[in-house]
Amino acid sequence: MRVALLSDVHANLHALRAVLDHVDASGVDRIYCLGDVVGYNAFPLECTNLVRERADFTILGNHDWAATVGTPDGFNPAAKAAVEYSRRLLDDDARAFLSACSPHASFRVNGMRLDLFHGSPREPLWEYVFPDDAPPLFDQLDHSLQADTPRVIALGHTHVPMILAAGELDPADVGELPSKFLHSNLDKDRAASLLLLNPGSVGQPRDGDPRAAYATLHTDSLRVQFHRVEYDVGAAARAVRDAGLPGLLADRLFRGR
Ligand code: ZN
Repeated sequence: MRVALLSDVHANLHALRAVLDHVDASGVDRIYCLGDVVGYNAFPLECTNLVRERADFTILGNHDWAATVGTPDGFNPAAKAAVEYSRRLLDDDARAFLSACSPHASFRVNGMRLDLFHGSPREPLWEYVFPDDAPPLFDQLDHSLQADTPRVIALGHTHVPMILAAGELDPADVGELPSKFLHSNLDKDRAASLLLLNPGSVGQPRDGDPRAAYATLHTDSLRVQFHRVEYDVGAAARAVRDAGLPGLLADRLFRGR
């Protein structure tokens, strides 16, 4: 089975449509969304409706929480402005859909276990696991595992794609992922039975590549393919400005930061 993993759409409808076109062209069996459908960009309602229609499962992100049942306390001013904007634009159905999502989900697929967290297993809504933070987390996870059950843990929240593997991973085999975001051979005893990954962000990439990011997981082979998709960044940025959102949220889309 092939599962498309999408995260951090952040109300960027141009990027989301381009990614869904790419997903449809490549053919997948399921679409899972790792949270933060709203915030930062101009189309929170449209993106929520589209994710709701297309994703087989969606988990809650911190911006989704802040824009529905929570508060943006502690967010920076631009993020806070975008949360307040999202809150104004969401209708009752969209709000009910997002607020019913949980920040963690666990699935059994083809004999493997797939865990989705927006942030981290420790703090599903809030903790950032950047590529350099991930190896220590990976070591901790090892102890709680049944060695005979292949396991994939997918995270969002950082907007930086990465993959860590217990066994060997060929950098040439993971698609569009810079090699600095790949750690492999972390526990030879477990072979390739444990993967920790982040597909990157659809709507606001922060790894220096402005193209929309997502990943595909092949559950039979535990193979992961990272994808980058061109979209109309100019149109998304114009929409941010036209919506009256802070200009820096438009500018960063061009830089992928
Ligand atoms: Zn996010």
